[in-house]
Amino acid sequence: MNNSDEGFVISTTPYREHDCMVHFLGKEYGLIRFVLPGYYKPKSKQGSLGLEFSQVRYRFNFQENRLNRILNGELIEGYLHQRTDLEWLMMMSLASEITVRTYDPSAHFYFYDHIALLFSSNNLMKAMIEFIVGIIKHQGFTPDISGCVVCGSQHINTFSIERGGYLCTMHSPAYVKDSKELLLAMKGLFIGAEIDAFLETIELTPVLERLVKYLEYHGDYRFNSWKLISGM
Ligand SMILES: [Zn+2]
Repeated sequence: MNNSDEGFVISTTPYREHDCMVHFLGKEYGLIRFVLPGYYKPKSKQGSLGLEFSQVRYRFNFQENRLNRILNGELIEGYLHQRTDLEWLMMMSLASEITVRTYDPSAHFYFYDHIALLFSSNNLMKAMIEFIVGIIKHQGFTPDISGCVVCGSQHINTFSIERGGYLCTMHSPAYVKDSKELLLAMKGLFIGAEIDAFLETIELTPVLERLVKYLEYHGDYRFNSWKLISGM
């Protein structure tokens, strides 16, 4: 029987001599691994099917609990314009790594819709921030942003990764203070307020950094692509 699905090429790695291993996020099948046979042969006819961070349709004979092979398919969107942009590539690497590490079939549509959004977003940083916030909520370690996590005080001074929420001036580590923008962004993001306009006006890198580190700390992950991005 022939199966087919459309979706996104999340990552590709060389496999055996000429094959390629693809992490594919399919609309119907969710996140699965495929072998793309002969991809690295000089005269491969599969050239457009193993393009990392692209949208494709694959045809295959699906067998459960097996490594399935791609029979054929076609490229739907190669994002050729975007991929000349280093920032786009780095962000896609981060999105790819986060998806592979945190994907949960019970939240399939969340992942699929956000990856689709990320690939074509014109505000990549904001889309990435929203993607990570949803994963943090889904994994059940939403930070406490109702007041200082120690005493409940409303005199908020820092957002603590380790303590999982806000800290007041008295309970913050000495000489540490977060910007008002970062504190407000965290609140808006986690209570689900309409803060698009606000996010357009602030520096988003510190917000993204705090969220990536929060997810790493509470979910026990290490995202290598984040190290690259933050080192730039
Ligand atoms: Zn306090």
